[in-house]
Amino acid sequence: KEADINRLLRYAADRFSMFSEQQEVQLSLDMPSKLPPVYIDLDAINQVLDNLLSNAIKYTPQGGSVVLKARENHKQKRVQISITDTGIGIPSRDLKRIFERFYRVDKARSRGQGGTGLGLAIARELVQAHGADIEITSEWNEGTTVTFWVPFAQGGKTG
Ligand code: ATP
Ligand code: MG
Repeated sequence: KEADINRLLRYAADRFSMFSEQQEVQLSLDMPSKLPPVYIDLDAINQVLDNLLSNAIKYTPQGGSVVLKARENHKQKRVQISITDTGIGIPSRDLKRIFERFYRVDKARSRGQGGTGLGLAIARELVQAHGADIEITSEWNEGTTVTFWVPFAQGGKTG
């Protein structure tokens, strides 16, 4: 399950270019020219990126921005991936429960975009299935960042 994270991230940004244009949200990809191979389930991390990017775009008002960023951390032998938006944010009282299944912040506030409240719960399960971490930070009315880490292929288990 050695995978090319470079392609995965570019594909993810491409997949969402249409949706972000529709929503009038600026989507950009910030990554070095070449990240090392990682040890992941491609389909799973693809799903994680889908869930996080769709949230970032749908909870960001027109004129805002979303940045998909990746950096390699040599010391920890892993790649850090974050999705930052300038959207509506999540109140701190909701933040500790936000990864629970079906948990949603007052749905009236989203831009008429429905949802089931499963996206973040699934993203966390898929990341944790890799033995990796996921974190969220958010400021009400300012924006949100979700960060997760995936292991280098050489640092991960093989076979
Ligand atoms: P689904 O993803 O199942 O279609 P959903 O988007 O409501 O539905 P989650 O992705 O699990 O469900 O997110 C849970 C709740 O967290 C959302 O309803 C929303 O209130 C809040 N949320 C998630 N991501 C963001 C974000 N980037 N900015 C602001 N609020 C967010
Ligand atoms: Mg969602």
